[in-house]
Amino acid sequence: MGAPARILMTGSRSWANPEISSDALSATLALLNAPIMGSVLVHGAEPGADMVLAGEARKLGMSTEAHAGQWNQHTPACPDWDKANAVCRLAGNRRDAEMVHMGATICIAFPTHGYALAPGEDRAETSRGTWACAEASRKACIPTIVVWGKDLYPFGNEALAMLQRDAQLKRVSLGAQGQLSILNTWLPF
Ligand SMILES: [Zn+2]
Repeated sequence: MGAPARILMTGSRSWANPEISSDALSATLALLNAPIMGSVLVHGAEPGADMVLAGEARKLGMSTEAHAGQWNQHTPACPDWDKANAVCRLAGNRRDAEMVHMGATICIAFPTHGYALAPGEDRAETSRGTWACAEASRKACIPTIVVWGKDLYPFGNEALAMLQRDAQLKRVSLGAQGQLSILNTWLPF
């Protein structure tokens, strides 16, 4: 058994699948060979994925660490169009940057829409924040994995390298329902 993991998560507010969430956490711990006890789920305390995953993490026996966004607080760096609103549109990205900066063993992302936009699709409503956080993690060289359907996909070279280090871990079938597999190819985005 390896060291406890710090698992950074990001996900859509409309994500709602406790079963896959629990399986994804179990598969991630198995991938890292990390114990449940002492491992931490770091999340943004938003409705949807954050709350679902935090609940499942606690059921498994993991610790959780919430980083709520300061939605009612602008910073000097906020642009004028943003400062005109009561709600800071940049608070989520700011919070995500802080979580990424703190570092993590791995990042798992739960988007409800694909990375590439369909023709005419508006990114504003298509898991934009989730993908932005996944991108930030990837750029920070945190291995980043996307949960899509019942599969886990590496998002970027760090995650791909992690999966390739141990061929036996390329396909993991774990969790309550044993449904999640980890694939070593980057496919649907
Ligand atoms: Zn602002």
